[in-house]
Amino acid sequence: MTAFDTQNEKDNIENINLIESWQQVNKQVAQACAQATKQHHEVTLLAVSKTKPAEMVATLVQQGQCDFGENYLQEALEKIQVLREQPACKPIIWHYIGSIQRNKTRDIAEHFDWVQTLEREIIAKRLNEQRPAELPPLNVLIQVNIDNEDSKSGCMPAELPALISAIKHYERLQLRGLMIIPAKANTDAFARTKQLFEDIKIEHPELPQWDTLSMGMSGDMGEAIANGSTMVRVGTAIFGARA
Ligand SMILES: *Cc1c(COP(=O)(O)O)cnc(C)c1O
Repeated sequence: MTAFDTQNEKDNIENINLIESWQQVNKQVAQACAQATKQHHEVTLLAVSKTKPAEMVATLVQQGQCDFGENYLQEALEKIQVLREQPACKPIIWHYIGSIQRNKTRDIAEHFDWVQTLEREIIAKRLNEQRPAELPPLNVLIQVNIDNEDSKSGCMPAELPALISAIKHYERLQLRGLMIIPAKANTDAFARTKQLFEDIKIEHPELPQWDTLSMGMSGDMGEAIANGSTMVRVGTAIFGARA
């Protein structure tokens, strides 16, 4: 066997493992949905591919995975570019889930379909101005600091009404819902966020697209779905540990 064959063999085995992990996560999502008396299609699986190569993304796209999440802008832009140039790769729905620096909004507005980490009006304003006219409005979620942690990103729950009022007038943004990263496991953070999400839906009937509650990661996706999550963001359980 030549070195080349060995490399191929190794790639094949890694691919099989990746596909198996992805199928396993899909099964867990399906089971959690069944327990919550939801349809599987009501919860979107976002595959968080940060630090992982474009080839792994392409492998999962081939299996039918549509949504991918990235945290690091430069890395993400390279991956998006590489995959766009592969004619065999179906279109991907890209979600930006990292923290947003003010001088990076243009790249985000031009290359992503969703932003899940909106927490300040100035960023919303810039994304709205910079979203290219030929693209559909950018889908946005407001990240909420649901546990009022000093060190965490996300807007404080008390700041939500003002932020929603501002964002809803931006025509190049489509406000879809909320995103959280809870401070600790096994608290009522998911349930409190679900309540907040439902309250806003009632208070803002003018937001017909208010339909997305992004919560749950590798370690707590079942619990999040049980508490009303409509989108789980899963990295490690699909792609393996990050370096
Ligand atoms: C990295 C990341 C995830 C995925 O975390 P895992 O524990 O690897 O599933 C989800 N959401 C956000 C915002 C992240 O940064």
